[in-house]
Amino acid sequence: MSKNTELFQKAKFLMPGGVNSPVRAFRSVNLEPLFIVSGQGSKIYDIEGREFIDYVGSWGPLILGHAHPEVIETLQEVIRKGTSFGAPTELEVQLAEKIVELIPSVEMVRMVSSGTEATMSAIRLARGFTGRNKIIKFEGCYHGHGDSFLIKAGSGALTFGEPNSPGVPAALAKETLIAEFNNITSVQYLFENFPDQIAAVIVEPVAGNMGVIPPLKGFLSDLRNLCDRYGALLIFDEVMTGFRVHPGGAQSLYQVTPDLTTIGKVMGGGLPAAAYGGKKEIMEKISPVGPIYQAGTLSGNPLAMAAGLKTLEIISRPGFFEELNNKSNWFFEELNLFIEQEDLPLSLNHVNSMGCLFFKKGRVANFKQAIQSNTDLFATYFGLMLQKGIYLAPSQFEAMFISAAHSTKDLNYTLEKTKETLTYLFS
Ligand SMILES: *Cc1c(COP(=O)(O)O)cnc(C)c1O
Repeated sequence: MSKNTELFQKAKFLMPGGVNSPVRAFRSVNLEPLFIVSGQGSKIYDIEGREFIDYVGSWGPLILGHAHPEVIETLQEVIRKGTSFGAPTELEVQLAEKIVELIPSVEMVRMVSSGTEATMSAIRLARGFTGRNKIIKFEGCYHGHGDSFLIKAGSGALTFGEPNSPGVPAALAKETLIAEFNNITSVQYLFENFPDQIAAVIVEPVAGNMGVIPPLKGFLSDLRNLCDRYGALLIFDEVMTGFRVHPGGAQSLYQVTPDLTTIGKVMGGGLPAAAYGGKKEIMEKISPVGPIYQAGTLSGNPLAMAAGLKTLEIISRPGFFEELNNKSNWFFEELNLFIEQEDLPLSLNHVNSMGCLFFKKGRVANFKQAIQSNTDLFATYFGLMLQKGIYLAPSQFEAMFISAAHSTKDLNYTLEKTKETLTYLFS
């Protein structure tokens, strides 16, 4: 038995599925997960000593690649002074200032430790601020594992939500209404049926958890208008897109201003940090200034703040995004060209450095189209790519991330191996 298999067997005795987050278990690609021992730049190394070019990047945070020297150096300095105080530190103020500077709609932030916490807190705030209970979310958008988000569309014409997981109370599920991404009529319909009951619309401005699906032209601004008309808050969940598709998030890329924004992933530079923020008048409803409660023992943790601050500093340097976006756009466009030339039954979506290759012909603009993908064929593709030293996300419905650490050589190699694999799969 290999070392990896042995460790996985042991892990499965000790932790459900052997993992601490389900998709890591490689179940949808019918393989055993790789135990990783280290990462450097664009590469990761597993317990068997194999090297892979990594396109998962810890599921989004590692826009600088693994073990960026400046981030590591900062962490080494900060850790010597202690790891947590449960008291204000200057690092929190500096990171808050940086976030406010970069994200146009954010005037004030509250730091938390995960994206899940950020979105849960943001809807509590929206509910407390508006005095309303219902929220609208989109089928296929992921906002972490909070009860109000683990909801699927019900069977009725009026899509009251139904729990997507045992343990989510049906009474809570019906406060979440489900609309179709990129379909403004579906949102309008819900507002018309519940005109004074909807506290907020929450959306991933670029959907990144059903593969990658960009917003159609006008979709986000139409959401803005509907929220204004019905007195609901617009929440952009930019946990994935924030500091990824643009230094100022998708809201800067598409020029639409939400009331509240949630961020995480890149913001923590590989450590557990996330935040929610927005207009001052809304944020000041949070405790201790306002009555809406939210707290956290490790919120604003100095190590996480330091890694985040350094990361945001680096991505703010002149030319950073230009270079990252240029090489990413080049990569995805080359791949798309190949798909078109060979007339392969595939559909590639990407927004700058995040992309997804759907094993499906024709446009993917919503969840129903995304799930038409051939996930068995994806699993085969994934396995073949892994054998060639390319570590992709082990699910059809996850994004591929290019980081600043990916070299031209990495990208050329990946392109070559992708073409080779697809040619083999479709021959
Ligand atoms: C990853 C993600 C979350 C959840 O963040 P965690 O840190 O995993 O809790 C929420 N929303 C979006 C859009 C995400 O991509």
